[in-house]
This record gives sequence, structure tokens and C-alpha cells, in this order.
Amino acid sequence: MSVLDVVHYGDPILRKKCLPVEDFINLSKFVDDMFDTMYEEEGIGLAANQVGVNMHLFIIDIAHTDENEFPRIFINGEITSNEGESVFSEGCLSIPQVSLDVIRPETITLKFQDLEKKWHQEKFSGLLARAIQHEIDHLNGVLMIDLVNDTQRSEVQSEVNKIKNESVAKIKRISSDKKFVL
Ligand SMILES: [Zn+2]
Repeated sequence: MSVLDVVHYGDPILRKKCLPVEDFINLSKFVDDMFDTMYEEEGIGLAANQVGVNMHLFIIDIAHTDENEFPRIFINGEITSNEGESVFSEGCLSIPQVSLDVIRPETITLKFQDLEKKWHQEKFSGLLARAIQHEIDHLNGVLMIDLVNDTQRSEVQSEVNKIKNESVAKIKRISSDKKFVL
């Protein structure tokens, strides 16, 4: 088990459209590490590019809010239909301490693969549908900050800029450290 580094707003991988998973061999170790990371960070969802990996995969666990739920893994997920609308205050592990009221469809149908490569189609609503849409957005390079109006965005802009500056500085630090590895 290992906890991975969660990348923050400003890291270019968060703006990448992630590549489909084709090789399912040895995926479970990475998925285990993602769960360790998500629990450590106290999140309910995590996308692969949030830990710096360009792969169309995300995990969700809302079991603490709903006893019928369980930890879930979604690979190559695609929303095939949606219905209704709701507003919910969302947070994001890549934009820490910022929450935004995001409007999204209330119910979705998702096509996805599991770790055994098997395809599923399932309908989701409520918190699970909300979390899935947030994570699918991540894998398409979209962040919650893109989905709110100018008024909401301007309220959090200085906080978001601070996160971005720290993130860019960290990337620079890492790449300059690498020069001294012989
Ligand atoms: Zn997020």
C-alpha cells in the first residue's frame, strides 16, 4: 500500500483528456494505491490524472453516507444519457479548501468497465451521480471551476490563483531537482 501525491490546480495533467485503459494487467496495485490516497486525503472520489497518471480510470467511495454503497472502480467510463438538474456544493482534492455550487444533471446512465475488463451499464442518481460526473470531468480535463458563473468564480479566484502558483512552483522545483540526479 502506498499513498500517492495528489496534484493541484496548475498542473498541466489536470487539463489532459485521459487515454483509454487498454492494458488491464497489474492495474489492481495502482487502484489499491488510489484508494489509499483517497482515504488519506478524505475524499469521496479520485481520478487517475489527479495522481499524475494519464489513464481513463476513477474510483469513488460514498459508503460512509449510504450503508448500501461500496467502494467502486470505473474504467473507460462514458455517460450515455442524463436527466434532471440539481445544485450541490462540491469540493475537489486538486483545488483544496475551495467549494463551489455546481449545477449538474441529477441522474445519469454510465457505461464502464471493471478490473476484469467486463462492460457494465448502470443508472446513478444523488451523490453517486454527482461524484461520477465530477470525476469524468477530471478525465476530460474539465474542473469544477469551469462550470460556475463569473460571480462564483471571482469569489474564489484569489484562492485558486494561490493554489495554481504553489502548484507551478512545485513542478519547477521537481524539474530542477532532477538535473542533479546523476
Ligand atoms: Zn476533483
